[in-house]
Amino acid sequence: MNEIGGTSLGDVPIETNTRDIGDERLEFDVAQLPLDPRLRISIQNYDTDVRDVIRRAYVQRGPCQPRNHEFPPKKMGNKDRRFCVSWYNEYPSWLEYIIAKDVVFCLYCYLFSSSDGSFVNGGFSNWKRKDIIRKHVGAPSSAHNQARVRYESFKNQRQSIQLCFIKQSHQARTEYRIRLNASIDCVRFLLRQGMAFHGHDESEDSNN
Ligand SMILES: [Zn+2]
Repeated sequence: MNEIGGTSLGDVPIETNTRDIGDERLEFDVAQLPLDPRLRISIQNYDTDVRDVIRRAYVQRGPCQPRNHEFPPKKMGNKDRRFCVSWYNEYPSWLEYIIAKDVVFCLYCYLFSSSDGSFVNGGFSNWKRKDIIRKHVGAPSSAHNQARVRYESFKNQRQSIQLCFIKQSHQARTEYRIRLNASIDCVRFLLRQGMAFHGHDESEDSNN
């Protein structure tokens, strides 16, 4: 934690997000959440009330996947190895690459796993061992896959809420149109009769 405090990512000030996370309620600005996983504080360190807000912001943003970058070579044995941009295609939803540190992280595990392997803390950068990335995914019951299931259900839950809002607003529009048409019919009727817009004959056989 200490090593990331006070660091900044380009123009994004992150000090306010990484300080005073003891007993004090953490205040933050979602727009200022650091995209760079190296600068993120553990999700467990956020107040329970705001964890889902933080998760939502990161789910909306998706993984940090810079593409137009000259990935630096690293001497491994007698060969130069580097991160390959095509690996994003294999793991489009969770693999995150950090330019400043030349390492990768896992978005699923950051948001929804309590495990703290190198894909959550520190980052992974042994480009010769791409199999470790595959190994990180692991078996269907692995920590990563459990985090993926939680990530997907969180995302779907959000989508169904959004869909519900769209449906509701469609229904609201239809009802508004019905009320509006009824009001226009009433106004036409009253204007044709040269009558006031209110009256006191509201008996059942009265057109008013
Ligand atoms: Zn993971």
